[in-house]
Amino acid sequence: MKKTPIVVGNWKMKLNLKESIKLAKQLKKTIKRTKGKIEVGVCPSYTSLYSVSATLAGSQIKLGAQDMFWEETGAFTGEISPLMLRDYGCQMVIIGHSERRQNLGETDAMVHKKIKTALNQKLLPILCVGEDFQQRSENQTDYVVIQQVTKALEGIDLKEDDKIVIAYEPVWVIGSGQAIEPEETEHVHNLINHILIDLFADNLVKTNFRIIYGGSVDSTNVNLFTDLDITDGVLVGNASLEAEEFVKIVNKVK
Ligand code: PEP
Repeated sequence: MKKTPIVVGNWKMKLNLKESIKLAKQLKKTIKRTKGKIEVGVCPSYTSLYSVSATLAGSQIKLGAQDMFWEETGAFTGEISPLMLRDYGCQMVIIGHSERRQNLGETDAMVHKKIKTALNQKLLPILCVGEDFQQRSENQTDYVVIQQVTKALEGIDLKEDDKIVIAYEPVWVIGSGQAIEPEETEHVHNLINHILIDLFADNLVKTNFRIIYGGSVDSTNVNLFTDLDITDGVLVGNASLEAEEFVKIVNKVK
């Protein structure tokens, strides 16, 4: 049986407060009756979280953050604690996005710590993995994905109610407008599933993980990915910034 699909919008650093509230209002009005059929989340920037949280109150759209720190409290200037995210009503958090790995030097070790803390705080981690263009040209995709998934998750003592989403996002197609072929996604998603079987008990792999695709998903190509048996949803960047397009994606997945 297919798992409940998940569609998450990553608003990145692209919308100001007013724009974020406007988008949240539009989504709240149109995305309804999702229960059991689909899980929908949006990840605004930190500065809009509080207002978007208030705007989405009472809706079935979940709130997420684009990152978090791995400690819960302390002298960490500029960082955001998972407790603060919970305070704002966040239920999920993107971890290890390629833009953070590339631009901010986020390492697998940091990603690992963040995943552990997110689980402790009952935030659903959306772990992003994927190869860049050079790695792909050198046929390193499988190697990169094996390394990133293993280093992020190895040694984590997963409890029965700890859920994790793994987003395979080929870095070179993010924001390009050109997604990869579904067969390539299927290959990498099967690989991720095998890595999980090496790391965790079979029953946990079956019930606690969802594997999704991200990279230039829009309403015209989303079903190429979500129709795959191994694929449980999508992480959407650019196409999540426009209400009508994001709603179309959600409806196509639902
Ligand atoms: C992303 O940044 O996670 C992403 C998938 O972006 P886009 O959909 O714009 O490629």
